[in-house]
Amino acid sequence: MASIFSKIIDGEIPSYKVAEDENYYAFLDINPLAEGHTLVVPKKEVDYIFDLDDKTLSGMMVFAKKVAAKIKAMTGCKKVAVVVLGLEVAHAHIHLIPMNSEADVDFHREKLQLTPERFAEIARKLSE
Ligand code: 5GP
Repeated sequence: MASIFSKIIDGEIPSYKVAEDENYYAFLDINPLAEGHTLVVPKKEVDYIFDLDDKTLSGMMVFAKKVAAKIKAMTGCKKVAVVVLGLEVAHAHIHLIPMNSEADVDFHREKLQLTPERFAEIARKLSE
């Protein structure tokens, strides 16, 4: 069965898309730690990130770098954290999270509740 992220990539499930190319897709995390919290996924559905072939793995980081530059420019954060963790979705993904202190990347913190309009606005700004 296709993962939820494959369904997002295929457009079966809606998402706030930030960027896409032939091999990768970036979209806003629906439970963001901060405005601009983005997920980067390979279109190739592989559960564990280090099971990706070398080309896909390295290309994913180069793709994420471009997205991170947009997040940094939009939010004015000090750095964009690159986080791989969690077991919730069996489709490799990188979290990109705007960060001004380490506390900004605490996944136990309460997530932001954003309106659909705000999600759309953020996605629009990041995809410009
Ligand atoms: P992890 O496996 O990294 O712990 O969690 C997966 C992440 O994907 C979570 O941060 C969760 O909010 C996000 N997520 C799960 N389902 C969806 C979805 O349907 N849409 C979006 N945009 N994000 C999702």
